[in-house]
Amino acid sequence: MTYLTLTNTSLKRFNSLGLNSTAATVYLPLETQGLIEVLKLTASKKRILIGKGCNILLSRDHYDESYAFIVTTMADDLQVHDHELVVETGLSLNRLAWFAQEQALDGYAFLEDIPGTVGGALIMNAGQFDEEIGPLVHWIEVFDLYDNTVHCIKPNPGFFTYRHSELASHQVVLRAGLKAVPGNEEKNLDKILDIKKKRYLKQPRKYPNAGSVFKRPKKDGQEFYTWKLFDEVGLRGYRIGDAQVSEKHPGFIVNLGHATPNEMTSLVKECMDRVKHHFDITLELEWRVID
Ligand SMILES: Cc1cc2nc3c(=O)[nH]c(=O)nc-3n(C[C@H](O)[C@H](O)[C@H](O)COP(=O)(O)OP(=O)(O)OC[C@H]3O[C@@H](n4cnc5c(N)ncnc54)[C@H](O)[C@@H]3O)c2cc1C
Repeated sequence: MTYLTLTNTSLKRFNSLGLNSTAATVYLPLETQGLIEVLKLTASKKRILIGKGCNILLSRDHYDESYAFIVTTMADDLQVHDHELVVETGLSLNRLAWFAQEQALDGYAFLEDIPGTVGGALIMNAGQFDEEIGPLVHWIEVFDLYDNTVHCIKPNPGFFTYRHSELASHQVVLRAGLKAVPGNEEKNLDKILDIKKKRYLKQPRKYPNAGSVFKRPKKDGQEFYTWKLFDEVGLRGYRIGDAQVSEKHPGFIVNLGHATPNEMTSLVKECMDRVKHHFDITLELEWRVID
């Protein structure tokens, strides 16, 4: 067996916002070959790739048989080959960071507290402060949904930019080759713990969320912090049903318990409308909306 199948199931455990949408079919490939098999098998459906679901907004209550949800977290192998880390798409960033820590490799500490998988991180060039996953990448193996072929991409400069990569929506990440540069074990450990503490104190950890909702906006060459804009227009703590702009950090929207896709979507829209109206700034979602 190379994959598992769930039918008529809740997606609550597959999205970090904890929305209780349901899906007719969810596939869980156990390794890369299983992922390829599932992708071929579901060619006639709208295929939705999910890693840990830490950056998605489910906008529907139910996804019928025309959708195939494919959750990659069980395809999570990690090997060292020729001074390179070869990882399957579903490997968690936390596990990757700790593996690097244990092997005294440099450059991965910043990923320890970013929830998600390698695949999800490559799609949006996940990062924090001045570090992001892009510069760690040697190659990315992708499955092309257009012609059912597998190929390898070697990212050139410019492939990864702020919370964006050139990976197209028809390219599914299968595996990646990542740098393995020897470093200082103690320094890396200090960095992991330092980042963890700072983020823990700053971010809402009490309620389910999906990280920053919007990218940092720019206008006339000037960059803004979303949370500051939100404070100025009274959005801190603003709620629609159980969807709430976090009291602790307004850059986040949290689920107070039983938020629905409709409540989340309406709150996102309200935030965008207010910022547009008051500052003439168009916010761009960091979340990926699953329509
Ligand atoms: C508390 C919290 C803190 C966060 N902090 C940060 C942060 O500091 N920096 C940051 O960058 N992000 C942050 N995030 C967002 C999230 O952690 C990252 O975006 C992460 O990379 C998402 O990975 P994922 O596996 O959960 O992706 P998912 O949410 O599952 O998917 C994200 C997108 O990638 C697509 N996708 C997933 N896997 C594949 C694949 N194999 N092939 C093709 N497409 C695929 C999905 O279809 C979707 O469009 C945070 C989230 C939370 C909940």
